Amino acid sequence: MSLYERPVGDALSKRFEAAFMPNYGVPPLALARGEGSKVWDVDGGEYLDLIGGIAVSSLGHAHPALVEAVSRQVATLAHTSNLFLHEPEVLLAERLLDLLAAPGRVFFTNSGTEANEAALKLAVKYGKTNGRTYFVAAENSFHGRTLGALALTGKASIRDQFGPFPVDVRFVPYGDAEALKSAVTEECAAVFMEPTQGEAGVVPPPAGYFKAVREICDANGALLVADEIQSAIGRTGHWFAHQHEGVLPDVLTLAKGLGGGMPIGACIGFGPAGTIFAKGDHGSTFGGNPVSAAAALAVLDTIEKDGLLEHVRTVGAQLADGIAATGHPLLAGVRGRGLWLGVLLTADRSAQVQAAAQGAGFLVNALQPDVVRLAPPLVITSGQVAAFVAALPAILDEAADA
Ligand SMILES: *Cc1c(COP(=O)(O)O)cnc(C)c1O
Repeated sequence: MSLYERPVGDALSKRFEAAFMPNYGVPPLALARGEGSKVWDVDGGEYLDLIGGIAVSSLGHAHPALVEAVSRQVATLAHTSNLFLHEPEVLLAERLLDLLAAPGRVFFTNSGTEANEAALKLAVKYGKTNGRTYFVAAENSFHGRTLGALALTGKASIRDQFGPFPVDVRFVPYGDAEALKSAVTEECAAVFMEPTQGEAGVVPPPAGYFKAVREICDANGALLVADEIQSAIGRTGHWFAHQHEGVLPDVLTLAKGLGGGMPIGACIGFGPAGTIFAKGDHGSTFGGNPVSAAAALAVLDTIEKDGLLEHVRTVGAQLADGIAATGHPLLAGVRGRGLWLGVLLTADRSAQVQAAAQGAGFLVNALQPDVVRLAPPLVITSGQVAAFVAALPAILDEAADA
C-alpha cells in the first residue's frame, strides 16, 4: 500500500476532529505501534521516527528494558499517592542527584509544565521571604502551557491572549548577557532559562552566555532555574545540557526524555534551594508514581549500560555533518548538539519538508516556518541516520517545488 493511501487513518482523523477540542488541529498521521526507531501507522505504513514524540522516546519504541520495568512495576504496585513512599521513587531521586554530582532535593511531577510550576512556586516563596517581586525569562522561550509556566513563556502568540498573569515576568533577548545584566536586580527572585532554546528552533546560546547568566544571578541573589525539560537525559550527548556550559543552576527542571514515554517530570533544587518548600507547600497525587519512576530508572540504566551518551555524540555528528554535506539550496545550515538538531531552511518551507519526509517514510517536525526539528530516539543506528541523509536531497527537492 502506498504511504498516501490511509483509509483507516483517514477514518480515525475524522473521528478525532469530531471528538477533540480543536487546539491541536488534526495530526497528519495515526500511529499504531513502534519498535526501536521505527513506527507504523494504522494502515501499515512504516516510518523512521526522527522526532521521538518530541524528544521523549529516548529508548525508542517498545524497548525491552522499558517494557520489562513498566510491566513488572504495574503488576506489583502501580500507585501509592504521596501518603506513602515507595522504593522506585527513592532510587530515582538518588540516581538523578548522583548523575548531577551535587547535593540537592527532588520533587516529582507528571509533566514538564508541572515541573516549572513547582520551580515557579518555589521561586515565589523565595522572593516573598526576601523582598523579591519579579522574574526574568527569555524572549521566545517555552516553559509550558499552564498559567504559571505560560507566564514565563516568551512567545507572544501562545502567551498574550491568556494574560494578565499572577506573576511579574520581564523578558530579555536570549543570548544577550548585557540585557540580562540590566534586567536583574536585587528585587528579582529568579531567572528562568533554557540552556538551549527548544521550541524557539533549537537555538544554542553564544559561548559563555550561561556562565554569565550564573554570575548575574549570583551577583544579585536571584535563583537560576535551568529548564532542561527538552535538553536533558542524554539528548545533547551529555546527561544534562548545562554540563556543556560547566554551570550548575539552583533549580533544574526535567521531563520529556526522563520516562522514555511514561509521564514523569522533576524539579530539583540544589543546596538551599532544595529546602525552600516546607511541609505542605506543594504536592501532586500522581507525581513520581511507581510505574513512571521504574520507567525512568530503566531509561537511565540503559543509557549508561549501552553507552548511549557516546553513541549520541557519534551519530549526532554523523547526522549533522551528513545534512550539511548535502549542500542543497533549500538548506541554510544545521544547529544544535547530539541528537537534537534544528535544520535551517533558506525559505519558509518547513511544513513542506515535513510532508515530503513523511511521504518518503521519515517523521520530522516543522518547528518554525524555516526550521525543521530532529530529535530521534537516542538508540537510532548509524545505518538509519545514513538512510535519512541519503533520502534528504529528494525530500528537499520535493519541498522546494511543492
Ligand atoms: C516541552 C517543554 C515544556 C513543557 O512540557 P510539557 O510536558 O509539555 O508540559 C517546558 N519547557 C521546555 C523547555 C519544553 O521543551
